Amino acid sequence: MAFPQSFMDELTARSDIVDVVGSYVQLTRRGSNLFGLCPFHSEKTGSFSVSPDKQIYYCFGCKRGGGVINFIMEEENLPFPDAVRFLAKRAGLEVPEEEGDREAGRRRQRLLDLNRDAARFYYRLLQQPEGRAVREYLNRRQIRKATAVNFGMGASPDAWDVLLNEMTAKGYSKAELLSAGLIVDNRKGGFYDKFRNRLMLPVIDTRGDVVAFGSRVLDKSEPKYMNSSETPVYSKRRVLYGLNLAKKSKRQGILLCEGNLDIVTLHQAGFDNA
Ligand SMILES: [Zn+2]
Repeated sequence: MAFPQSFMDELTARSDIVDVVGSYVQLTRRGSNLFGLCPFHSEKTGSFSVSPDKQIYYCFGCKRGGGVINFIMEEENLPFPDAVRFLAKRAGLEVPEEEGDREAGRRRQRLLDLNRDAARFYYRLLQQPEGRAVREYLNRRQIRKATAVNFGMGASPDAWDVLLNEMTAKGYSKAELLSAGLIVDNRKGGFYDKFRNRLMLPVIDTRGDVVAFGSRVLDKSEPKYMNSSETPVYSKRRVLYGLNLAKKSKRQGILLCEGNLDIVTLHQAGFDNA
């Protein structure tokens, strides 16, 4: 979509390139420009420059350069509209959307909030008595606590409606929980939690939103792996587990694996491009 010019002008005026780049790169002033270590290629002396006057960056090493939006596209690996939304959020500006888009956007945001709250709930449970079976499973798989934290892992309890009760108490409707794929209709007018007694692996997109969940059983029961179905915020062919972390890797190339836990163990072993 095209953003109105007046909005774009305000966005760039409120997104000073020195501030934005400065939150990723340590900059020191040399003459009228600032210099630092290039975030896009590996180097020991800073050939990455920022011009406050021209509001641009340029690297004399890898020749990358551009304005503030370009910087976010490169650094956060985002397409142009998402880079604009990213900067708008940072600057506290509301992105102008069309009326239909706005309503869809609101519903979408509710589902993302719900997923985030569910992920936090599972994450907390992992540290509590209810999470013991999952903690023991992680120990057996030699997955360290720091790794589990890094991936935001959680535990779903061995019960039928714990998440359902917790999230409705927070103000989410059953329709929203259904739409997010977190509960299941029992066809008798009731609902129950989809994920029970499982290791929970939130699927986080490159913008940092929890869009879905992967999960694994702890015993021999089936199905071994259960993942969220497609939802208004989750399209399987557009999201890769772990890409939110791998996009920051300085390693060459990318390691593509079949299983979520393969990704986790590779990251733990230092292959943060998995
Ligand atoms: Zn460079």
